[in-house]
Order: sequence, then structure tokens, then C-alpha cells
Amino acid sequence: MPPGSRRHTASGRSPQGVAARPSLGVVGGMSEQRAWEVAEVLGASVQPSCDHLDEARVTAPAADGPPGCEDCLRIGTRWVHLRECLVCGHLGCCDSSPGQHAYAHAHAQSGHDLARSAEPGEDWAWCYADEVFLRPAG
Ligand SMILES: [Zn+2]
Ligand SMILES: [Zn+2]
Ligand SMILES: [Zn+2]
Repeated sequence: MPPGSRRHTASGRSPQGVAARPSLGVVGGMSEQRAWEVAEVLGASVQPSCDHLDEARVTAPAADGPPGCEDCLRIGTRWVHLRECLVCGHLGCCDSSPGQHAYAHAHAQSGHDLARSAEPGEDWAWCYADEVFLRPAG
């Protein structure tokens, strides 16, 4: 009696499902021009985002504003760099300054999360809520 026997290998057949492709809905339009956009972070796997871009109302530098941090001038301290609130135009000093008045302003005033650099030749802004850099849009 031969030891060999035929083996039936059942080949499992999986039913071919149809891959569902959900359609991505396009949200809103791009009709409103924003002055600032989130600056890309080179090499970052997840790009930062900011929900406060609509808060920016101050577009032009305050030419006739005070020549320094309003709060430092009032209490007599010195500042390193100046930041201008993009919502109300408040001039405050940067985080490298002893007073950190731009940061203090952003946290004291609800909805004042964006500040641009008021330093000559610098063209960037910062969101204190998201801690992301912004650049001029367009
Ligand atoms: Zn933000
Ligand atoms: Zn200050
Ligand atoms: Zn402000």
C-alpha cells in the first residue's frame, strides 16, 4: 500500500471588497485675504498650525507710535527687542527682555495672540497661543 496520499490544499479565497473612497469636503473659501500665514518648519513631520490668523488687524507698522516698549517706558526698564500686537498695535518687549511685556500683553488681553517683530528689517510674527512663527502671506 503506497504511503503517498493526495492532499487537497484548500486555497482560501477572500472576497474582493471594493475600497471605499470617502470624498473630502472642501471647507470654506479663500476669499478673505489674510496678512499672515504660518511659516513652514523645514524637516518637521507635522507642520504647525494657527487658528488666530483672522485676529490680525494691524498691517502697517506704527510709525507715530512710542519709540519703545510702552510698559518699559512707563516703569523705567530697558528692553531688547520690540514686538507689536497685531490686534491693537500695542508695543511690548520680547521674551529676551526683562519685562517680557509683549508676552504679558498677549496673555492679559484675550484674543491678542499675534505679535509681529517691530525690529527694522524683520518681517515675521509670532502666535503666543500656538507658539508658531508667521510670515507675511502672499
Ligand atoms: Zn495661533
Ligand atoms: Zn517692556
Ligand atoms: Zn493687543
